[in-house]
Amino acid sequence: MPNSKPAILWFRRDLRLHDNPSLIAAADRGGPLIPCFLFDPDRPEWAELGGAAAWWLHHSLSALSESLRMQGLELLLRSGPTADLLRDICQASGAARIFCNQVPEPQSIAADRSLQRSLAEDGIDLVIAGPPLLFDPPKPLNRSGEPYQVFTPYWRACLGEQEPPAPRPQPPMPPAAAGPAEAGSAEAGSGDGDPLASEDLADWRLTPTAPDWAGGLCAAWTPGEAGAGARLDGFLDAAAASYHRARDLPDRVGTSRLSPHLHWGEISPQTVWHAVRRTVAAGGMPEKAAEKYLAELGWREFSHYLLHHFPSLPRQNLNGRFDAFPWSAPDGDAATRNALQAWCRGRTGYPIVDAGMRELWTTGWMHNRVRMVVASFLVKDLRIHWRTGAGWFLDTLVDADLANNSASWQWVAGCGADAAPFFRIFNPVLQGRKFDPEGGYVREWVPEIAALPDRFLHAPWEAPAEVLRSAGIDLGETYPRPVVDHAEARRHALSAFETIKDAA
Ligand code: FAD
Repeated sequence: MPNSKPAILWFRRDLRLHDNPSLIAAADRGGPLIPCFLFDPDRPEWAELGGAAAWWLHHSLSALSESLRMQGLELLLRSGPTADLLRDICQASGAARIFCNQVPEPQSIAADRSLQRSLAEDGIDLVIAGPPLLFDPPKPLNRSGEPYQVFTPYWRACLGEQEPPAPRPQPPMPPAAAGPAEAGSAEAGSGDGDPLASEDLADWRLTPTAPDWAGGLCAAWTPGEAGAGARLDGFLDAAAASYHRARDLPDRVGTSRLSPHLHWGEISPQTVWHAVRRTVAAGGMPEKAAEKYLAELGWREFSHYLLHHFPSLPRQNLNGRFDAFPWSAPDGDAATRNALQAWCRGRTGYPIVDAGMRELWTTGWMHNRVRMVVASFLVKDLRIHWRTGAGWFLDTLVDADLANNSASWQWVAGCGADAAPFFRIFNPVLQGRKFDPEGGYVREWVPEIAALPDRFLHAPWEAPAEVLRSAGIDLGETYPRPVVDHAEARRHALSAFETIKDAA
């Protein structure tokens, strides 16, 4: 007997139709389907939605809605408390089963558990598919049954497990349930009345208007499943073969730029994994490049694994010794306040740092090498707490991800798992010269110093007055002098570290 009652497909960070476990489960069940997205700012997964991420969400929902419409389904958009919305939709449609995919963050998982219990009391079954990861935490564990805190043995243990399953295609789409009404149509509601009437996405005001700062984001990205697929194909065609050599060079597209698509679940990591494997088999990517690339996907896995085992990762130092570190308070003295502002705006006077922060502000993304440099500069040169930097990134990155961001900031700060030791302090001038030797990256994002010869590009203050003049630069006016002297800041950072070095 085919199922005649509708089921609900609740989208969250899985904004795709291919290789989507909850869609496959809902389709297997048979019967009509109500796909929905619920915007509830009190749910943990939406509570800290930054500006750039909100922009992405708007466009990704719009793309998903269009894909569903082409399959004869309308995406129901509702805002308000999740439990009430789901109950109301079930009551109005006669549905008694809801399918969704896990959002792999401890607070969301806990909220799901209590939601599941509360819906069960009303006879509603919430079916949650596994996390969007290649290897499900809590596994693997080390020989003592403890979580790994070092990447290499963790990843080796993962690779010793079964290869991640091949991605599954989009299933034949179930039919639409009666309703919901299409937003903008005569039956569409404002959300106050009929629970099956969709709200209008534009009313959620996820995109900026006054001012509209999203021009650079629009130029750089195509949110949605099709955009994710195109990005993967582009990477495999053009950059995958030299990934191991070019991944550290920010002046070119040497990496996949899939991070926002992976964060929003527009593509599954299994799809990426197997596409890389196929490319290697077809001779389009050397094994060395693939190994390196898959290990980067491994860092994504490791970050989620750490967040699973250490849910306080976004707030607390993994290495408790750092609790006593004498950070400068950004809301304290004016010098620190100004330095923080200079960092956020890309006006520190260190070209590679400024280029990175401007790339971030303009496009919502920053190259990984430069993320490490700017993070090190904030934490070590300015001695501002990593949480302040992590907060800025969460607000400005289109790939803002609680697990990846928290683990990476703790890694740079020296207090995280398998972290770079605190005393290894990035020199922004040497990093610039090594990874942007021809200056293409700095010249793109810091055009006011573009006319400087390569020799001085990463340290304009070293240029003789005459060279500055002929490059049209008036230091301190057209481009800032360094907010701190790196050598001196490094000494201060190391002596601050001395104060906690021997703490238990
Ligand atoms: P590729 O080199 O093409 O790598 C493929 C995928 O692997 C990425 O899309 C990403 O999902 C994953 N990946 C790569 N490097 C890392 C890494 N170091 N840690 C975890 N996953 C990784 N990444 C985020 O997705 N969200 C964040 O909020 C985030 N914050 C960061 C903050 C700091 C201070 C630093 C140093 C790194 C941060 N990263 C974050 C990790 C990394 O910089 C980005 O994932 C990467 O730059 C994305 O570019 P890509 O897709 O071209 O990467």
